[in-house]
Amino acid sequence: MSGKYQVCKNCVMDTTDPEIKFDENGRCDYCDNYYNRIQPSWDPKGGEQKLQELVKKIKASGKGKKYDCIIGLSGGVDSSYLTYYSKEKLGLRPLLLSVDTCWNLNVANANTERIVSKLNLDVERITVDWEEMKDLQIAFLKSQVPYQDLTQDHAIFAGLYNSAVKYGIKYVLTGANFSMEGVKPPYEWVYINDIRLIKSIHKKYGTRPLKTFPMAGMLKYRLYYRYIKGMKIVHPLNLIPYKKDDVLKELEEKFGWEKYENKHYENIFTRFYEGYWLPKKFGYDKRKCYYSIMILNGQMTREKALEMLEKPPYDENQALKDMEYIAERFGMSKDEFLQLMNGENKTYRDYKNSAFLLKSAIRFAMFVGMEKRNFR
Ligand SMILES: [Zn+2]
Repeated sequence: MSGKYQVCKNCVMDTTDPEIKFDENGRCDYCDNYYNRIQPSWDPKGGEQKLQELVKKIKASGKGKKYDCIIGLSGGVDSSYLTYYSKEKLGLRPLLLSVDTCWNLNVANANTERIVSKLNLDVERITVDWEEMKDLQIAFLKSQVPYQDLTQDHAIFAGLYNSAVKYGIKYVLTGANFSMEGVKPPYEWVYINDIRLIKSIHKKYGTRPLKTFPMAGMLKYRLYYRYIKGMKIVHPLNLIPYKKDDVLKELEEKFGWEKYENKHYENIFTRFYEGYWLPKKFGYDKRKCYYSIMILNGQMTREKALEMLEKPPYDENQALKDMEYIAERFGMSKDEFLQLMNGENKTYRDYKNSAFLLKSAIRFAMFVGMEKRNFR
């Protein structure tokens, strides 16, 4: 990468992603990926038939069982809508999984409860052991890697897959969708779920063993769970028209659901990490990904996105309050926390990791057509 700052002329991704590429018209490779890979395969209008076929398979897999699928419910918009849609519109019988990483805001918990009680569904609740969560999160802060939310993200996704297998449920429904998540955050910002990386950072900076922390390495979930246990991860929201404004309105009307200021801000740590830690410390602003996909699928104009990016991701005073709260929960003084924040930035490459293996596995999956993603 040259040192020159450049922003895509079509979306708002820019050279804060060190691996971004631009064509001769100044259009980036996320846009290219969207127009050439995602858009042709994403067909909400023609999705109806595919959706019905999928529902048939899910129902058949659950015949004679209490549940036919599992959904991880965070209280966020995508998983809330997916839960509602699956039960009420598709007639599925989901088991819900709620993973409490000890950082949820009340509004997220309240949303979860509203959905659960109104839809009368069963919930499996996993509460991560706070001492283990804290130990791992502090180890990550000390490691100085950008992706501080890997700890929570891993617990949530491992908890979901482990529960699916535990209950013998074949179909894992996720709220991930091209409509809002078609631009993946750059690899450099959020190097993916890598159990080897988690363990090597914890080994170096952790102070207690992780005995109950939910874990699922790539071999376990990509190979054992998928091919031996037959677990299938599906994304139904890609088969229906899914517009954020409409969905929010529907959730508000039906459940008294409350929205958050920003995507993924249902959690105090995540709010601080995405809104302050990443932009201040690394210059990475995840709103660029969220806004870019909305520009690409016509839910936001580029002008509006640029205007919103002029403002900080969240209120500076709130950020400082959140920082004090986080430091206190970690048993640190504000100064100790600031010292970590001002430490020398590192990347996943500074620790043992499985990047090579994971990249190869994903390339292979793409090659045989199992996976579509923007991947360099
Ligand atoms: Zn672009």
